[in-house]
Amino acid sequence: MRVSAYPIVSLRDVPADAEVVSHQLMLRAGLIRRLAGGLFTWMPMGLKVLRRAERIIREEMDRAGALELLMPTVQPAELWQESGRWDQFGPELLRIKDRHDRLYCYGPTHEEVITEVARKELRSYKQLPVNFYQVQIKFRDEIRPRFGVMRSREFLMKDAYSFHLDPASLAEGYNRMFDAYTRIFSRMQLRFRAVDADTGSIGGNRSQEFHVLADSGEDAIAFSDGDDYAANLEMAVALPPAAGRATASQALAEVRTPGTKTIADVAAFLKVTADRCVKTLLVEGSDGGVVAFVVRGDHELNAVKAQKLPGVANPLKMASAAQVAEATGCEPGFIGPVGLNIKVYADHSALALADFACGANKADHHLTGVNWGRDLPGAEAVDVRNVVAGDPSPTGKGTLGIARGIEVGHIFQLGRKYSEAMQATVLDEQGKSVTMWMGCYGIGVTRVVAAAIEQNHDERGIIWPDALAPFQVSLVPINLQRSDRVRETAEKLYAELTAAGIDVMFDDRDARPGVKFADDELLGIPHRIVVGEKSLDRGVLEYRHRRAAASEECPLDDVIGFLRGRMQS
Ligand code: ATP
Ligand code: MG
Repeated sequence: MRVSAYPIVSLRDVPADAEVVSHQLMLRAGLIRRLAGGLFTWMPMGLKVLRRAERIIREEMDRAGALELLMPTVQPAELWQESGRWDQFGPELLRIKDRHDRLYCYGPTHEEVITEVARKELRSYKQLPVNFYQVQIKFRDEIRPRFGVMRSREFLMKDAYSFHLDPASLAEGYNRMFDAYTRIFSRMQLRFRAVDADTGSIGGNRSQEFHVLADSGEDAIAFSDGDDYAANLEMAVALPPAAGRATASQALAEVRTPGTKTIADVAAFLKVTADRCVKTLLVEGSDGGVVAFVVRGDHELNAVKAQKLPGVANPLKMASAAQVAEATGCEPGFIGPVGLNIKVYADHSALALADFACGANKADHHLTGVNWGRDLPGAEAVDVRNVVAGDPSPTGKGTLGIARGIEVGHIFQLGRKYSEAMQATVLDEQGKSVTMWMGCYGIGVTRVVAAAIEQNHDERGIIWPDALAPFQVSLVPINLQRSDRVRETAEKLYAELTAAGIDVMFDDRDARPGVKFADDELLGIPHRIVVGEKSLDRGVLEYRHRRAAASEECPLDDVIGFLRGRMQS
């Protein structure tokens, strides 16, 4: 590509509305342009990156035996009514009417459509297992589209759906997708983790998310340094403390603690550390009452774990001030487990405390020297807190650390949720009609591009992994318009590299070297060859990798061999 014929419009300033670095750099480098909230045009340079990501995904899906098809983006409401999701899906579902007043939605996902395809096409166990995939636009009317293409309303997804005769075959198909995803993100040269995820309201058996590790990630993930255990913070298991509870040594006392509503206030006032206090949180019960959770002062209640417990409203809802007053006779801030007449769940580490402090269920008062068993009955022991860095791994191997991640993929054993609701059956070996088992597997293709930038950039711009770069090599002649030798060498190199199948960005503009370098670095082209009079005198060119601190010499007579040695894909 000749830059002179390519409308590169790079912006020097950081666009005001872009909060994260990938969004800023994608706008500055001209990869995307905003059309409206959560809607973006992929400009030619950006589209090249997106296509490279798609290509890797297609190659690995094909290798895993999945079959590509293409389903419509617009989907009839009837299918969603059949699955029950027409009513369950909130305002994220964009509902539309055609000229005959028939209802449709713009597909946020394609379980319903693929189940309709499968129930018509698949008749016999002999056709199973099968995995269909597509790379198709989705629309989700996100409440807060942000971070550019990372959380947009319209985005490109690779979605795959597998159909099986039994759960064992589903597990096998799922593992095959796990391997394919591992290959995909490895080939993209991204640092990533597969983490255990919550199966949420969809139910189903097993679910894992693939996260690209980046400080700006929206999700917290816990991972072990001792093995490959990794889980979404929502799911990461906290083990009960190995050491048992100490014996009581203090007497129970009531202390006046005016105005101390937070654990930090209480701990400072009582001159103890937060891990010697407990906090008591009241949430709504599933039958209208309230339920108490007790966690150690330095820990956080985990909503996903809490809402799965018997008697607790799902989704979790904190009790109102009126409900708290009714259950405890006291305002929030001074609540404690002593003397409570409601169901109390206590986190393992709160239950392991002796001589702890807690609210007295009396305004401006706390209790100290509190001991389970002596001052209050033991509560039901549960794991209901977020793990913290330094916790032992639930596998027994190593210690947990917390990292931030961007969810780029999600694999899911759906079970029979859709096939049951929509009667997707096949005849088994005995000629009996059986409901198929399903798995679904998504990759946010547009999000992957942004995530790659979040992970690979510096103050000058993007640093593309070789596998995703829009161009592999940038060819920068110095003073091309004034030196015949430079022009001839550069033109010849451009022709040779292109003929060798290398995708080259040839900066043939009449511009200062500084301008060319700045654009090239903003765009993140991994390999740069500079053609200049001085180095030509020595029979060499200057080579620099986008990550390298300095240039090195590249022999003029073997540029291709030299570059091939540097390129990772
Ligand atoms: P999130 O939790 O980030 O909202 P999700 O769990 O709702 O995502 P899935 O239904 O699992 O998303 O969709 C599969 C993949 O599609 C996700 O792993 C993610 O990479 C991508 N994706 C989902 N929503 C968006 C969005 N609004 N913009 C860009 N990509 C998205
Ligand atoms: Mg997901």
